[in-house]
Amino acid sequence: MVVQLHGRAGDAATRDWRPAITRGVRGRCPHCGEGRLFRAFLKPVDRCESCGEELHHQRADDLPPYIVITIVGHVVVGGLLLAEKYGDWPMWWHMALWPALTILLSFALMQPVKGGVVGLQWALRMHGFGGEPDLPERQPLPPRGRQP
Ligand SMILES: [Zn+2]
Repeated sequence: MVVQLHGRAGDAATRDWRPAITRGVRGRCPHCGEGRLFRAFLKPVDRCESCGEELHHQRADDLPPYIVITIVGHVVVGGLLLAEKYGDWPMWWHMALWPALTILLSFALMQPVKGGVVGLQWALRMHGFGGEPDLPERQPLPPRGRQP
């Protein structure tokens, strides 16, 4: 397991993504595992209170909801199909259970999944986590009117 404490993008040392994702899922700083990752439900802190790692670089964007939708969809649809095939449940059980389970699982998984995505971005030095400005700041758009 290799974890670099500080460095710039392009350095030979790498960050192990496994502990970074695990720390993020637990809601802890992907760098040190001690400081909090979130200051609100889905709002990461700007800087780790324990090690000072800047966490405002994260750009999880829409990936956590896509992952949560995939997980919850498989659990709920799979459970519904199993219940239909092997159970003899009254319709009101289905109407009460599956929507409630969908909402509960979505809220329960959203923050851990976002933490894991932020941890992965940190480990891969994405979006400024490697010490350099994010890609759009490094490579400005080409001037207009140069296309044929
Ligand atoms: Zn930290």
